[in-house]
Amino acid sequence: MNNSENPTALIMIFGATGDLAKRKLFPSLYRLFKRGKLSERYCIIGVARRELTNSAFQESVRQSIEEAEGHHDDLNEFITHFYYHSHDVTDSSSYLALKTLANDLDTHYQLEGNRIFYLAMAPEFFGTIADHLKSDGLTDVDGFKRLVIEKPFGHDLPSAIELNNRLRQAFAEEEVYRIDHYLGKEMVQNIEVIRFANAIFEPLWNNRYISNIQVTSSEVLGVEERGRYYENSGALRDMVQNHMLQMVALLAMEPPIKLTDEEIRSEKVKVFRALKSLEGEAVKENFVRGQYGPSNKNNEPINGYRQEPMVKADSNTETFVAGKLIIDNFRWAGVPIFIRTGKKMATKSTKIVVQFKDIPMNLYYQHEKTLNPNLLVIHIQPDEGISLYLNAQKSGDTMNATPVKLNFSNNSVDHMNTPEAYERLLYDCMRGDATNFAHWDEVALSWSFVDKISQVWENQQAEQFPNYEAGTMGPKAADELLEKDGFHWWPVESGDYR
Ligand code: NAD
Repeated sequence: MNNSENPTALIMIFGATGDLAKRKLFPSLYRLFKRGKLSERYCIIGVARRELTNSAFQESVRQSIEEAEGHHDDLNEFITHFYYHSHDVTDSSSYLALKTLANDLDTHYQLEGNRIFYLAMAPEFFGTIADHLKSDGLTDVDGFKRLVIEKPFGHDLPSAIELNNRLRQAFAEEEVYRIDHYLGKEMVQNIEVIRFANAIFEPLWNNRYISNIQVTSSEVLGVEERGRYYENSGALRDMVQNHMLQMVALLAMEPPIKLTDEEIRSEKVKVFRALKSLEGEAVKENFVRGQYGPSNKNNEPINGYRQEPMVKADSNTETFVAGKLIIDNFRWAGVPIFIRTGKKMATKSTKIVVQFKDIPMNLYYQHEKTLNPNLLVIHIQPDEGISLYLNAQKSGDTMNATPVKLNFSNNSVDHMNTPEAYERLLYDCMRGDATNFAHWDEVALSWSFVDKISQVWENQQAEQFPNYEAGTMGPKAADELLEKDGFHWWPVESGDYR
């Protein structure tokens, strides 16, 4: 593990003219530079299909950073470390020219032979690029070599295995950094700290004191221009297989014996292994799929999913998923973990609500209702923070218990911008810390869980689609899923949990 605080590396970004590079990677690299987290000996080669001169590429890097971060005088200096290589992913001679450029820059900037290959490209290219990186000698270096790839990692378990086998011809497992950008988010990383650094939570973090956990990740946007991709993916593959299950693993794992990437990932893997697999009828009982239909609220017509570009008129693709997960182990037996995620919902919000069990006997009345349960809410995005809901007495109001909220908001306490997920992840990768990347074992286990659900859904046309109106919190069946167990979704859209 390279734990230097200012690691040195040559970073090659494949797909450097694409959306991900422009919106996330260049601004993140600049923010690392601003925070003093990039060594002075850094160098980036942008690789993409189009013909560009170095200076035209540098200008496009400048532009994308200015759009995200505003104008800064030191940008002139920053972008001089960017180089461009016009590339055809299938052509060996192009890799050989790239190798020569990389070796020259390695010597010029004294990069110690450290290389990061970031594939910000469509996944169908991953295998071909990895093959060539090895066969054309770009991975023959004295320092470290690391491969960073974006989701989706396969379409199902067999395709993920095929891709993984191919990548592993060129890179060892510990050299493959599979990005799940949720794992780079401040409050997702905080799940571990909240759990393992507070005496008041860990003793209660089990089936004796927790009644259920709810993880919601809702988006207001629809599929926009990504209809073609989304038709083959759907919310289950796009969100549940990776981000949602990763959050569940962090919530449910046992305390690791040390905070190392190996120990943490091995605890997460145990959660995936304990996740009760669902088949046939059990899928229908525990999972709900939805697809947004048109809406005309306030006379503002909004397209349904089937009216979006590149989407079939009778599409069977789900844009919403809700599910009940059972973790079959000592700690969690009997505690449902409910997840829901979807597009074109009422609010953009990622939140975790941990609902504690009721106290054994209620000595108070509360507006003639039963006592509110204690809740721990972890706000992941767009607001970041923690709220704890307790019951307390209002002044002068004896015998009455009123819910009060203890609030910690990252946004208001910490005026410095918290680092972007990609910024953290790039830095972690440079330092060789793989904790916040998905290990192959996690990817494989989560695919095998999700595949059984998609098999049932794909084999049966959803007659009820579309089944939720754009701008709402999903289909009625998602509410009924919780009602069966005597629960309800805490309203993340209003933020009012009383
Ligand atoms: P994009 O279509 O905007 O960019 C694709 C890039 O690949 C371009 O630079 C293009 O020049 C290059 N390219 C395409 N074909 C090529 C070829 N034959 N040879 C050489 N270069 C070629 O894509 P994007 O939105 O930047 O996404 C890239 C990857 O990241 C995808 O796997 C996507 O799923 C994933 N991703 C993107 C985002 C995002 O915010 N855009 C978020 C998460 C994951």
